[in-house]
Amino acid sequence: MQMQNQVNTLEKLEQYISVTPEEREAIQSTKTKWGTTPYFASLMDYNDPNCPIRKQVIPSKLEEQNEFGLENYLVYKENRDTKEDRPDTIARQYHNRIAFTVLKTCANYCRHCFRKELVVDKSLELDFNINEGLEWIKEHKEIRDVLITGGDPLLLSDDKLEYLIRSIRDIEHVEMIRIGSRLPIVLPHRITDDLLKVLGGFYKIPIWLNTQCNHPREITEKTAEAVFKLMSAGINVGNQAVLLKGINDDAKSFKELHEKLLTIRVRPYYVFYTEPAPGIDHFRTHIERGAELIRNTLRGHTTGLAQPMYVVATNIGKIPLMPDYYIKHKSEKEYVLQNHRGQTTTLPNIPE
Ligand code: SF4
Repeated sequence: MQMQNQVNTLEKLEQYISVTPEEREAIQSTKTKWGTTPYFASLMDYNDPNCPIRKQVIPSKLEEQNEFGLENYLVYKENRDTKEDRPDTIARQYHNRIAFTVLKTCANYCRHCFRKELVVDKSLELDFNINEGLEWIKEHKEIRDVLITGGDPLLLSDDKLEYLIRSIRDIEHVEMIRIGSRLPIVLPHRITDDLLKVLGGFYKIPIWLNTQCNHPREITEKTAEAVFKLMSAGINVGNQAVLLKGINDDAKSFKELHEKLLTIRVRPYYVFYTEPAPGIDHFRTHIERGAELIRNTLRGHTTGLAQPMYVVATNIGKIPLMPDYYIKHKSEKEYVLQNHRGQTTTLPNIPE
């Protein structure tokens, strides 16, 4: 029902918020796919156009500007323009793990999506033949880790997911499956008992589900319940936030997000710097902002479990963006280390 009633017209959106003239104009002129679930729309602030959920969902005229984004970004980023013969479903940046793209629809069309050429703008056409992808994985014995992605893979029917997951688990050299899905956040109703049977089914070949929660306002009782059910079925749940200007790049939202994730058992895994996808310049922060936020609000300021890794995903893989602020000085004799309060201590420098 939530998907059938997707909030993707002005009239439907007006049931949830007081639409501003700017939002109205952007919606009327956008050529891209937009929309969200009634549930996620219900979390929007009725009056505040700066609401972090509104900004992730409602198109903006700023998407027409593009100074830092690269055209054909996804082809470049996913190394699709190489000599290696791979089906469209398979994106590869590493020797032993791949991203297996299985569909291009989402429950929420995030305005900051780095896959927007495929998912939101629809300018990139790919053929997602699942069997072809499965065959490719079978033939490549070096692949030990398969990330199922999209779009949002949990939008597949239970039957299709069952086939997909059982087929991957049957491949002898695959040791783990990861799923990237925003549904625990934007459509927690999808975490049904039937889905849990599909995902949980087998104690070997674990599933790690990474979701995307960018602001504490996105975390509700429903999210907590969905995560608890997933974990009860043996699915590990982590979060991959995206650092977004005006949404979570302030100290309060950033800290609260990471502390609140732990209260619903979600382990903060990554904070991503915005990738150079086109039309998302208005979400970009300074590149060092994420490291500053982690240093100033999380490291030493809250539990060590709430410490994501700040990275940027590139065409050559993920690159950490965490400078080492903690080693202040080193000599042949010792290291001088600094904590979050600026206090220093020393450790002897042990020769190799
Ligand atoms: S859910 Fe993921 S793939 Fe879909 S629009 Fe959002 S960021 Fe993009």
